[in-house]
Amino acid sequence: MRIDILTLFPEMFTSITDYSIPKRAIGKGFMEIFTHNIRDFANGKYRRVDDYPFGGESGMVMMIEPIARCIEKLKAERQYDAVLFTTPDGKVFNQNMANRFSMLQNIILLCGHYKGIDERIRELFITEEVSIGDFVLSGGELAAMVMVDAIVRVIPGVISDETSALSDSFQDGLLSAPVYTRPADYQGYKVPDILRSGNEKLINEWKLEQQLSRTRARRPDLLEE
Ligand code: SAH
Repeated sequence: MRIDILTLFPEMFTSITDYSIPKRAIGKGFMEIFTHNIRDFANGKYRRVDDYPFGGESGMVMMIEPIARCIEKLKAERQYDAVLFTTPDGKVFNQNMANRFSMLQNIILLCGHYKGIDERIRELFITEEVSIGDFVLSGGELAAMVMVDAIVRVIPGVISDETSALSDSFQDGLLSAPVYTRPADYQGYKVPDILRSGNEKLINEWKLEQQLSRTRARRPDLLEE
């Protein structure tokens, strides 16, 4: 899949392109990420990308033209399945969305800044608006990186042990069971015996029990769904 990210701060995205699972996925060709500096599409000597809001509020608003030019250029080059905008008033991002987006071919991901973007961009170009939670960030870049990271790890083949992504929290509507590694005994704090029993059936039953009790205690809302 290909993700085109429109941002005022393309350099920030090295945080995902240069590390860990996303880096490997890009290296193996599972995902291509292209960043586009919105400022490159602005006019004039100062390449202005923001302006005062109508109606006299404080703060600045990202202007239509540079963003529109960038989106139109990309759309002339290929078909896009989704044009996403990161915004606190969007639908809250979750695992289902990550799974769904991971099946698309081409996505544009627009990052806002300042007070946000001119509403007409949203009306004209955006197919889906996504929030990463009920709080306000300075810009959409971190939100976009959160989304890209969640999307890339569920693309089949990206995580070598495929069941690993499937056993993560939320994939089966439940939180994940606790995990342990060596040493089996840390200053008297022991790994549950059952995990060392070698009995796969009992281990799976134990894990499911743990998932259910954890979900009941921490996120009962997931069980209601
Ligand atoms: N005035 C806006 C917030 C602007 S914050 C409002 O009250 O809704 C600046 C930019 O940061 C936004 O345009 C958006 O792209 C990004 N952003 C901030 N919080 C976000 C969140 N929770 N999820 C996704 N993007 C967010």
